[in-house]
Amino acid sequence: MLEKKKILLILGILACFLFCTVLELSAMGKKRIILIDPAHGGQDKGIKLTDDVAEKDITLAVALLMKKELAKENNLEVVLTRDSDKTVDLEDRKKNIEKIKPDFFLSLHVNGGFGKNASGFELYYPGFSEDIVKGKKTAKDDKLLMKNKCQNDSLAMAKIVQENLNALFPRKGRGLRKADSPVTDSLLVPSVVVEMSFATNSEDKKKLLSANTQTDVAKALSKSVKTFFR
Ligand SMILES: [Zn+2]
Repeated sequence: MLEKKKILLILGILACFLFCTVLELSAMGKKRIILIDPAHGGQDKGIKLTDDVAEKDITLAVALLMKKELAKENNLEVVLTRDSDKTVDLEDRKKNIEKIKPDFFLSLHVNGGFGKNASGFELYYPGFSEDIVKGKKTAKDDKLLMKNKCQNDSLAMAKIVQENLNALFPRKGRGLRKADSPVTDSLLVPSVVVEMSFATNSEDKKKLLSANTQTDVAKALSKSVKTFFR
C-alpha cells in the first residue's frame, strides 16, 4: 500500500513538472506583437516638408524600414496600421488596436510649430483617464492592474526610445511628456507617440528628408523595441 502511495506521489510530481514545462514552452513560443502606426496617409498628409514630401511619407518610410529591421526577430510579430499611402481614419486605427491587441503600440509623427528654433524629438506616453477602470468590482480590479501595467510599460519604452533618439535629434530640454493621444484614448494599450523631430526647423527638416537619417531613426526605434521585449 505504501509503495502504491509512493508511486502515485512520484507520478503526481512528474505530471506537475510536465504541465509547468509545457506552460513555460508555450509562453516562450508566444510572439509579442508590436503595432507600428505610420501616422496620417492618403488624403491626410500631415505637416508639409516640401512641395512633394509630407509627414505621411516620412512616417511610412520609417515604419517600413522598422518592419524590415524587426522581421529578423523570432520573438516579434510586426504589424503596421498601413503599409502604403492610404487614408486610415482615427476609428479604423482604434478598431485595429482593439482587434490586434498588440503588446505595444508605437505611433510615428513629425512635429511642427513653436517657432523655427523648436527642434529635436518629443515622446508622449499616455496618462490613462480614471474612466478607463469603470465597471463591476472584479472587472474594475482587473482593469486597474492592466492600467498600471500599461502605464509602466509605456513609460519604460519612452525612456528607452529617449536614450536611443538622443544621438540623432539631440534635445536641450526634456523630450518626454505625459499626454493621451486621440488614437489610444479610452483603450488599455501600452503606447508611445514618437514625434521624430520638427519639420519647421531647417536643420531637422534636412535630416528628416535624408534617406540615411530615416534609416538611422528606424534602427534606433527598432533597437528600442528589441530592448523593451528582451
Ligand atoms: Zn502627425
